[in-house]
Amino acid sequence: MVQVYKIAASYNANAYLIATKRPIMVDVGMNCDLALQSIEKIIVPNALEYIVLTHCHYDHTSGAPELAEKTGARIAIHKNDAESLGDDHATVSNLFGVRSPAIKPDVILQGGEMLDLGDLELKVVHTPGHTPGSICLYASKQLFSGDTVFPNGSVGRTDLKGGDPNQLIKSIKLLTTLDVDIMYSGHGDVTSKDVNAQIRDSLRFAEQVL
Ligand SMILES: [Zn+2]
Ligand SMILES: [Zn+2]
Repeated sequence: MVQVYKIAASYNANAYLIATKRPIMVDVGMNCDLALQSIEKIIVPNALEYIVLTHCHYDHTSGAPELAEKTGARIAIHKNDAESLGDDHATVSNLFGVRSPAIKPDVILQGGEMLDLGDLELKVVHTPGHTPGSICLYASKQLFSGDTVFPNGSVGRTDLKGGDPNQLIKSIKLLTTLDVDIMYSGHGDVTSKDVNAQIRDSLRFAEQVL
């Protein structure tokens, strides 16, 4: 089992360090220094290979440029959200009363890629709906679900710029075809309690409410 660490992040968006041979961060949160302090306790920060952004939202991404600069890690994001990085409505930075930071992605993802982390291959699953370029990451029955699905049958909101309820339902349907033991979502707690059933609950909820 590959070690995954929940990294102290500001506000309430989660960030995770996957401590493989070629370690990566999944999202960063809003405070680079806070994230870096946590990372330093686990790995040599310069070893960080990628910062994979699950989507373009400010609370997940705004610490990324500084962390990339300080560690040399490359920023990866899906192409549909890469296009939105400078848009204060699409990144919801306007909700925080600030402009989006300049984020220059080094790797543009399409979905379907396998990220080589040395001792783990992580699959990129394109799951639009919360945003057009939302992705989930999947390996060894572990799912990084971003803001697509949350524990206890919750789902990401679709009323922000770029959101699409029908796409979200399709994306969650796709996630129900995976076998998941542990889910690391963009908000809330890490869960390992009958996760497949939780994702099916999310699908049912999305179909009824969205
Ligand atoms: Zn979001
Ligand atoms: Zn979020």
